[in-house]
Amino acid sequence: MPETMDRPFWWDAAEPQPAEYESLPKTIDVAIIGGGYTGMGAALPLARAGRQVAVIERDRPGDGASSRNGGITSGNLRLSFAQLVSKFGMDKAKAFYAEGVTARADLYAFIKAEKLDCDYQDVGRFSGAMTPGDFDGLRRSADLLHRHVGIETEVIQRADQFAEIGSELYHGGTRRPDIGGLHPGKLHRELRRVAEAAGAKLYGGTAVIDIQRVGAEFDVKTSRGTIRAKHVIVATNGYSDKGVPWLRKRVVPVISEMIATQPLSPNLMQTLMPKRQMHSETAALGHYYRPSPDGTRLLLGGRRYHNDPGAARERLRAALVSIFPEVADTELSHHWFGFVAFPMDQLPKLDIHDGIIYAAGFCGSGVVWARWMGAKAASLVLGLEDKTVFAEDRFPTIPLYNGTPWFLPLMMNFYRLKDNLSGKGRK
Ligand SMILES: Cc1cc2nc3c(=O)[nH]c(=O)nc-3n(C[C@H](O)[C@H](O)[C@H](O)COP(=O)(O)OP(=O)(O)OC[C@H]3O[C@@H](n4cnc5c(N)ncnc54)[C@H](O)[C@@H]3O)c2cc1C
Repeated sequence: MPETMDRPFWWDAAEPQPAEYESLPKTIDVAIIGGGYTGMGAALPLARAGRQVAVIERDRPGDGASSRNGGITSGNLRLSFAQLVSKFGMDKAKAFYAEGVTARADLYAFIKAEKLDCDYQDVGRFSGAMTPGDFDGLRRSADLLHRHVGIETEVIQRADQFAEIGSELYHGGTRRPDIGGLHPGKLHRELRRVAEAAGAKLYGGTAVIDIQRVGAEFDVKTSRGTIRAKHVIVATNGYSDKGVPWLRKRVVPVISEMIATQPLSPNLMQTLMPKRQMHSETAALGHYYRPSPDGTRLLLGGRRYHNDPGAARERLRAALVSIFPEVADTELSHHWFGFVAFPMDQLPKLDIHDGIIYAAGFCGSGVVWARWMGAKAASLVLGLEDKTVFAEDRFPTIPLYNGTPWFLPLMMNFYRLKDNLSGKGRK
């Protein structure tokens, strides 16, 4: 029986590489903390504008969620359009969703213009309804998004579902043609390549321990010495540690984890995933899944609520089998996890506190948002008029939270119960 490898499937083709320089510079124009998509998204425009940029990364650049994710270009917001309308009013709700459309299109244009080799596939995403009531909900939400933001969504009745997915599990669903998939590890590798080519310097194995304001500048204290920076951008998202305490108290790190199967036969893949598209489903603890870019394997992910990694892997396998009973005997090849970041209000943020710029809180949808928000952070440094609706609200504090998410098991159990009571429960 083949061993399941405890590392991201993506690393087989694009494992993050170390970044090591002999010594840190004494001074820099911009220090960017965190070397994922956000960090690279900020580094590129700054370096191209002639700024000296140091990306300071605790591990290898890309070691965080940016080389571990599902690669689905959802640009998702956790709050539905209707929820945003009731919280912020119609105009601002439209602005949030419209920015998602722009950010996704911008990523595609960027991949094309810069010729990024990241297996981007323009395949669409099917969202499966776990109950008939969810199907009505999906249909209503598709209608709202079309009417107010112009987003095209196809409504798929259960009778037509097999053209989308070889599964009996769902009660119909919706298909978003504007969402696609890419190889997340390759995307990071390519973002790093263009940032370094533009002159950004990456310092791996270098943890930021403290940031002190010195007049209009900052002393960024790291495990390898101190850098005096004119500007600081914090891009640490779900990996925020005690070196960035202001952000750490404002985002809850949640484990998202994935499995990959061994290759399946072309015939079986054709039956299960006839369009080779991306997938999601409607449960509170629903799963996302997709084919590997070469179309031979199934990859599925979800939130972790088992402490034991073996039990967590088996739960993901059970979810996959509940969708596709045909793969009950298929071996897994990889199992891995990473951290995503949730702010209290479940909206991504660009914020400034005490002169330091923070771009984070992508709620598990940073393939589109992280690079976008990194670029917006760069615009702030460059003094460009480059607005984002995500900068309008402050990063809220989270009551009784200092960075240790003691309440997460309770929340996960609450969501499990909610799914069970509404007929969407799994193991
Ligand atoms: C399993 C999984 C599946 C996902 N699937 C999807 C998906 O399909 N679609 C989607 O849109 N999104 C998905 N996401 C979310 C997406 O990956 C993230 O939102 C995105 O990668 C965040 O990028 P980032 O650069 O902000 O953070 P990260 O890539 O997490 O990088 C943060 C970096 O900060 C560094 N760091 C932290 N503290 C310090 C310090 N003190 N000093 C120096 N460095 C520090 C860390 O080492 C880390 O490398 C998924 C995430 C996971 C984990």
